[in-house]
Amino acid sequence: MNKQWTIDSIKEFVEKNSDSKLLTTEYHGFSQKLQFECACGNTFEKSFTKFKNKNQRKCEVCQPLKEAF
Ligand SMILES: [Zn+2]
Repeated sequence: MNKQWTIDSIKEFVEKNSDSKLLTTEYHGFSQKLQFECACGNTFEKSFTKFKNKNQRKCEVCQPLKEAF
């Protein structure tokens, strides 16, 4: 965990690595739930750790949780 994530670098990561968009405009740490907008138009909440490390990069309609593991 050397990289210090900021809201801007997270936004960039989200845009480059998923079809979702980041709606949250402030980042306070790894445990924070961020708000995303899925490509289908749904919004969903997820910590950035899960989004990035567990590949949970879509809403639960497009990517049901049980399939993420
Ligand atoms: Zn979706």
